[in-house]
Order: sequence, then structure tokens, then C-alpha cells
Amino acid sequence: MTPFAPGDRIHLVNKKGRIYRLHLQAGGSYQFSGETIAHDEIIGLEDGTEIALSRGTRFFALRPTLSEYTLHMKRGAQILYPKDLALIPLWADVYPGARVIEAGIGSGALTIPLLNALGEKGHLSSYEIREDFAGRAIKNIEAYFNPSPLNDRLLVRNQNIYEGIVEDEVDRIVLDLPEPHWVVPHAVDKLRSGGIFLCFLPTVPQIEKVVLALQEAGVFESIETFETLLRPWNIDGRSVRPSLRMVAHSGFITTARKVKRIPKLTETE
Ligand code: SAH
Repeated sequence: MTPFAPGDRIHLVNKKGRIYRLHLQAGGSYQFSGETIAHDEIIGLEDGTEIALSRGTRFFALRPTLSEYTLHMKRGAQILYPKDLALIPLWADVYPGARVIEAGIGSGALTIPLLNALGEKGHLSSYEIREDFAGRAIKNIEAYFNPSPLNDRLLVRNQNIYEGIVEDEVDRIVLDLPEPHWVVPHAVDKLRSGGIFLCFLPTVPQIEKVVLALQEAGVFESIETFETLLRPWNIDGRSVRPSLRMVAHSGFITTARKVKRIPKLTETE
């Protein structure tokens, strides 16, 4: 990893784990409770190095992880949380070189791990009905990747995906929007055989609709729905127990695999 450079957005983390964000600029100065440190003292340091402010308060200077980055980035739409962002690329089986469809792009929180998973040779077309959300998402994505993936491996379409998918023979379709059952007929036409359809939904009636649509389409197998619960623990001396608070619900993930059936041989089969 290269040392900290002007323009980097880094975190200063104190002993209690509190995070203070800092945009490094040559000649800049960071102020904290009457103490200061010159940005130039941080520029050139290695990720993870401890720093001391003018009166001795210490922080660790750290590059944000992807989950920290997504939690702090500016939002248009509600983002998916790290526990779901971690799972979706795996359960959609997004592999290097895959051609993937996403909708909607929202704030771009899922777009980033999808791009990481499909790599330099893959391609993502992301549909978003709201131009303002698409603009916000692009800003978040471009602040994360250098060089920008736009026009190269990311295409953002200001289109309603319920009306259709432009691309043919796509490998994966990943949906985080309210009515994914409207996308099922397009997945029948545009997903390649062996391709995967995945959607994230917060409520049960939405799942019933999409699963019924997948079952009735006749070309999907392995239709599965699950949820994940992430329960943090408190580990502090003799107090070793689950945390008192947790996010009890985010949503359900439904996946399905497109298949190619052979014609029936006899009437009785
Ligand atoms: N996964 C995103 C959040 C998506 S929120 C993230 O983590 O940042 C759902 C998004 O779907 C919203 O931005 C909404 O505008 C968009 N959307 C809803 N219906 C749509 C449709 N029919 N076609 C395209 N985008 C749609």
C-alpha cells in the first residue's frame, strides 16, 4: 500500500474506537479540542501509524475500510448495510469477468463491492430511475475508485428496469428495489442459462410475489430465500456477552438459477 498522499481521505481513530474523518491536503492543519497537527506530518506515513497532536493526544491514522466508507458516504437512497453487502456478491456468485445487471443504483453502496467482485474484465450495467440518485451514486463510486470505472466497466442507465433490460445474455441480475417481480420476465429473456437472479427485499409480501413469479416463469431452479442476523458481542474483561443492541432486521435475499429444460419425450413423463 502506498503511503498517505495529498487528496487521501483517512480516518483518525482514538483509543475508544471513535473515528474522525480527515481529507489530507498539503499545507493543511487538523484541529481537535484546541490541539493541532499539520497534514504534512501525516502525508507520507504508512497506513496504521500512530500520530500525536500538539498536546499529546494520540490517534491511529488509518485508511477507511470499504464498510466504513459505505457507512459514511453521502446518501440519496437508503443504502444496504455491510452485513448484506458482504453476502450479495457471493450469493449472486459475481466472478471476475462477469457481465452483471444491477438495479437501482441508489447511493452506490452495492455497486462498489459488485465492481470489486467482477474485476477489471467484467462489466456492470446499473439501472436507476432517479437521475439525482444516479448522480450521487456516481460521485460516491468515483471517490472510491481510481481510475474511475465509468465508461469502462460501469454503465449507469437512467432507465426503469421494470420496462426492460437492454443487454443480452447477462450472467447475473442483482436487484435492490421494491418490485423485483416485474423484472422476472426480463430475466427470462436476458439472463443466460446458468445465470443467477438475486433480489434483496425488506418485507414478506414482496418475497411472496417474486418467488411466485420465479416459480411460474418455468426456467428457474434452486429458488431460495434467507436472512442473516449479525449479532455483535461485548468482550471486556469478565463481561463477555452479546451486545445489548443489534440491527434486528434489514431484509431477505432471494436467489434463483436460470436453467434450460429439454423437451419432454413422452406424454407420461
Ligand atoms: N443498493 C443501493 C440502494 C438501492 S435503493 C445502495 O446500497 O446504495 C433502491 C433504488 O432503486 C432507488 O434509488 C430507486 O430510485 C431505484 N428504483 C426503484 N424502482 C426502480 C426501477 N423500476 N428501475 C430502476 N431503478 C429503480
